[in-house]
Amino acid sequence: MIILQNGVFKEREEAYLDLDDRGCQFGDGVYEVVGVYEGAFFTLDEHLERLERSSREIRLVLPLSIEELKQSLSELAEKNGLENGSVYIQVTRGACARNHAFPDSSVRAEWLAYPMNPRKPSLEQLHGVGLKTSEDMRWLRCDIKSLNLLGNVMAKQEALENGCYEALLHRNGMITEGASTNFYVIKDGAVYTHPANNLILNGITRMKIKEICNNENIPFYEQPFQLGNLKEADEAFITSTTIEIVPVKLVDHQIIGSGVPGSLTRKLQELFKQEIQKEKSV
Ligand code: PMP
Repeated sequence: MIILQNGVFKEREEAYLDLDDRGCQFGDGVYEVVGVYEGAFFTLDEHLERLERSSREIRLVLPLSIEELKQSLSELAEKNGLENGSVYIQVTRGACARNHAFPDSSVRAEWLAYPMNPRKPSLEQLHGVGLKTSEDMRWLRCDIKSLNLLGNVMAKQEALENGCYEALLHRNGMITEGASTNFYVIKDGAVYTHPANNLILNGITRMKIKEICNNENIPFYEQPFQLGNLKEADEAFITSTTIEIVPVKLVDHQIIGSGVPGSLTRKLQELFKQEIQKEKSV
């Protein structure tokens, strides 16, 4: 595999991270995962815009322009012959003797990018999955796609150990999102999801779902809702770049709606596929 490190293409085995990289010591950095379909990036501009925003919010100066990054990522995908999968991009505040405070301006941000081939959860997309509720213990800037993911990691592991596919995070009963996904319920033909504020990551897939709903006149409400209201939901689903749209049939031991993927979730899956094809044709 060819990877990109600070603008240099290398074999995977040749890449190394400094012992003092702030990404390792403090999770002091930001990242993105961008999907690739049939050799083309999907929503690359949106992901790079979010990378820029995340960096700005933690006062990290990106070591290259978004245009330069875009160009490099295309070359990376090409060099690896990447057809379907994704590209991981990470930027840290650089390497210097361990100290919580920012390094001085002579220390430059370190960045890397490499292709990934995550398994597409086809069966889960078809049959739906179960979620495990978990208190959301993360910090109050979940809108930043930072490398600090311990709250997400702990919740995901707990979900897996309980036979579930994903965690459903909540703050005192108010649902926020999954450990690595956004969460939605459907009631009476309308889609509900947590507002894009500091308590969730505004998923690029979420933005696309919102756009699709607007185009299709499907009501899309950005409202916080309670775990206790889940029993009234007709359908539920989760989304992310890696999993696209996966129906939710169980939360803890409670069946959602009829317990099988619902018709509106199916329709959104179909429309999302069309969206991918549409972007390829422009
Ligand atoms: N929330 C969290 C906490 C995530 O880690 C992710 C995955 N990046 C998402 C939501 C979904 O975001 P996206 O659709 O941009 O992949």
